[in-house]
Amino acid sequence: MMRIDFVSLFPSMFFGPFDDSIIRRARDNGILDIHILNPRDFAFDRHKHVDDSPFGGGSGMLLKPEPMFRALRFLLGTTNFQRRRILLMSPDGEVLSQDKAKELSAFDQLIFLCGHYEGFDARITELADEVLSIGDYVLTGGELPAMVMVDAVARMLPGVLGSEESAPTDSFYHGLLEYPQYTRPRDYHGKVVPEVLFSGDHAKIALWRRHESLRLTFERRPDLLEKAELTEDDLVFLKQLEQTRKGGQ
Ligand code: SAM
Repeated sequence: MMRIDFVSLFPSMFFGPFDDSIIRRARDNGILDIHILNPRDFAFDRHKHVDDSPFGGGSGMLLKPEPMFRALRFLLGTTNFQRRRILLMSPDGEVLSQDKAKELSAFDQLIFLCGHYEGFDARITELADEVLSIGDYVLTGGELPAMVMVDAVARMLPGVLGSEESAPTDSFYHGLLEYPQYTRPRDYHGKVVPEVLFSGDHAKIALWRRHESLRLTFERRPDLLEKAELTEDDLVFLKQLEQTRKGGQ
């Protein structure tokens, strides 16, 4: 069982995404245990202030240290997991990748600190083991990034996906994009499924899929090819793609 704790000023944002489909089933099957803690409950002044204006001037409000520190202290005092990771959501963090999702799936507890408004007082960053982002753009809060991360991590947990086959063939799992897939009907208004998929020749199908994976990655995400593990055959195929492209120019 993996325990997930979201520390967020807006707990109701988490209702919905984890209440359906695969993640819902993972929760029902005791694979994922999701909790939400509101730092406002740890703001002890009369008006329960959780934010304040930045020193030195500037627009917007920053999350104050005290409620976050207290909320986390409470969480660490009431849960006791050996392998736990505290993750702070911020656009200036390391960008989430499939490898990172896999790495995080090895922990027993993940704690997500979600910012809002102008972000966190910088001292809150010291609480985190890692600062993570979901991409080079700015959202209004850390709730959506945290949910995206939990979804990506949950798919890596044994028993979450219906078939253990699904994740290893997905895009990024082996550093390439996934090959195109087809289901019935075989002919949809003249758009026909590639013949090779009906050949019954598993080696031929596997080779076709590998080539289509390489082709798609070459066309859409050539940056991924630099880090992917490629065989001699792959390199020959990529060279052909390169030459075809040059020939077409
Ligand atoms: N002032 C901050 C900056 O320029 O880096 C942006 C603050 S943003 C409006 C408010 C909060 O949303 C952040 O503290 C963070 O928790 C979350 N957030 C926004 N974009 C994000 C992203 N791409 N990845 C992860 N968290 C993000």
